Amino acid sequence: MSDLTAHIKATIRQSGPMSVAAFMQQAVSHYYAQQKPFGRDGDFITAPEISQMFGEMIGLWVADVWEKLGRPDPFTVLECGPGRGTLMVDMLRAAARAEGGLSAVRVVLMENSPALRAVQGAALAGYAACDVAWIEDLAVLKAEGPLIAVGNEFLDALPIHQAQYQAGQWHERMVGLDHDGALTFGLGAVLPTVTMTGDEGAIFEFSPAREAFMVQLVTLLKKQGGAGLFIDYGHTQSGTGDTLQAMKDHKFVDVFDGVGTADLTSHVDFAALKNRAEALGLFCPPVVEQGRFLEALGLIHRAQSLMKGADELQQKEIKAAYDRLCAPDQMGVLFKVMGMVSDPSLALAGFQE
Ligand code: SAH
Repeated sequence: MSDLTAHIKATIRQSGPMSVAAFMQQAVSHYYAQQKPFGRDGDFITAPEISQMFGEMIGLWVADVWEKLGRPDPFTVLECGPGRGTLMVDMLRAAARAEGGLSAVRVVLMENSPALRAVQGAALAGYAACDVAWIEDLAVLKAEGPLIAVGNEFLDALPIHQAQYQAGQWHERMVGLDHDGALTFGLGAVLPTVTMTGDEGAIFEFSPAREAFMVQLVTLLKKQGGAGLFIDYGHTQSGTGDTLQAMKDHKFVDVFDGVGTADLTSHVDFAALKNRAEALGLFCPPVVEQGRFLEALGLIHRAQSLMKGADELQQKEIKAAYDRLCAPDQMGVLFKVMGMVSDPSLALAGFQE
């Protein structure tokens, strides 16, 4: 039994069942406190870890926004949940091609795992001129100039609540203990605010944590001016379904298996987040699929230019990485890209029909 499983069981014995959100919050922060969740040797692999091309494309997107904002100096690039720092390093290398961009940028990393902050610091050692700073919470962000915020597989790690439909009412889904003392799901209090109807047993997910993050970010973007880009697996229409998932050694495992030693996430309801951002006065183009977004930014040209200097094996790897990022049966369709901007006249690259 993992240490965290024992701790959660003791908490439940003492205080009763906990919400899925409370359970997820503990599992995720315990999990990321270790250093090596991602990559081939870790539990899962993310787009920036698949290929440098991913971060380079995002870097060009940021440079494009910066140009369209009138090349402000200084400006702030915020990355939420930067993992090993790979995306930021690839972004900065690509964005350095926009003349003057690198000397104007101030980098802020929002990361709450001390272990990962150390890994990110080492990865960004060559970018001291960008004044790299860390925050744990958006509330303490002091953005210099306009703000450009990005996050890859960040939102999925923020906790969700689950509601389950039973006998005409939605109940909070809870984590409790069965007769043998094992972790199990159960139903808690009725949630009167969820008004839609559902099939018996249906599950509906909602995330005050993601929405609160969005509200904070939108407030900052309206104050400072700028844009945001969030990439994650998820859906563009809200609906029912249980998407809570745990991954370990590149395989799905039971969410109660070794709690805190597997990556626990859920699909992102982009419809809910987009509605929230727009209601607060930001402008969001329709959410697009990752494959279409990267192709619109010209990923094929970057792949072709990398191919030129590559040997046969490397060429195969570049082709495989391209497919992994863009193919509909790989990450191309499941992963979505949400853009947002403070000024509707600024057309965000990659979102055009
Ligand atoms: N963006 C990286 C890592 C994704 S994993 C990549 O694509 O490879 C999720 C990241 O979000 C980790 O760095 C994790 O520590 C961080 N994280 C999770 N919850 C967080 C929170 N509430 N505040 C700040 N960072 C968080």
